[in-house]
Amino acid sequence: MPIKGNLIILSGPSGTGKGTVCKKLLTLNKNIFYSISATTRLPRPGERNGREYWFLNKKDFERMIKGNKLLEWAKVYDNYYGTPLEKINSLREQGKDVLLEIDTQGALSVMEKAADGIFIFLLPPSLHELEKRIRGRGTETQEVIQKRLDAAVGEISLGTRYHYLVVNRNVTEAVSQLNAIITAEHCRTERN
Ligand code: 5GP
Repeated sequence: MPIKGNLIILSGPSGTGKGTVCKKLLTLNKNIFYSISATTRLPRPGERNGREYWFLNKKDFERMIKGNKLLEWAKVYDNYYGTPLEKINSLREQGKDVLLEIDTQGALSVMEKAADGIFIFLLPPSLHELEKRIRGRGTETQEVIQKRLDAAVGEISLGTRYHYLVVNRNVTEAVSQLNAIITAEHCRTERN
């Protein structure tokens, strides 16, 4: 039987570059499977249902909560986001690593349920740089940008609850650090 795959939880403030870092990591390490979250937020230009997210209406999302179909869920910036339970366990049993890219509320809830998770927090080089990156995306209104910056300060203070902190100065370096952490975790003994 293969060794059970890791559950990797990656969080970081909006605009830190989690999306880009995740995409590159998945290209580099083919043993990692990305968990596609469900959300009630509207798709951004270029996003496709079943690729970036499962885009659901509020009623269907609440049905998933009631049916215990989510490992965790949270309300982030007025929308629901959640991790579908389906597939996570079977993939891990097959020895595959599963990557969750979720917010800090969701990660704290997974910390209580999955003690064997590897929790990694991605940091921006500075708050100034974070603001530049969110503005550069050009998809958010001024009100949303301010909300996300305010939230970032609170989220960063939770970073110390994670096992690893990775600073995203540039994508190549951050991806290489993440992959090194994941490789090291596969070599770890059961001792804590
Ligand atoms: P965005 O709308 O920019 O794609 O994501 C907003 C926030 O929701 C990000 O911090 C992202 O990590 C978080 N998020 C995405 N999927 C999930 C999920 O399944 N659960 C939770 N708790 N947060 C999520």
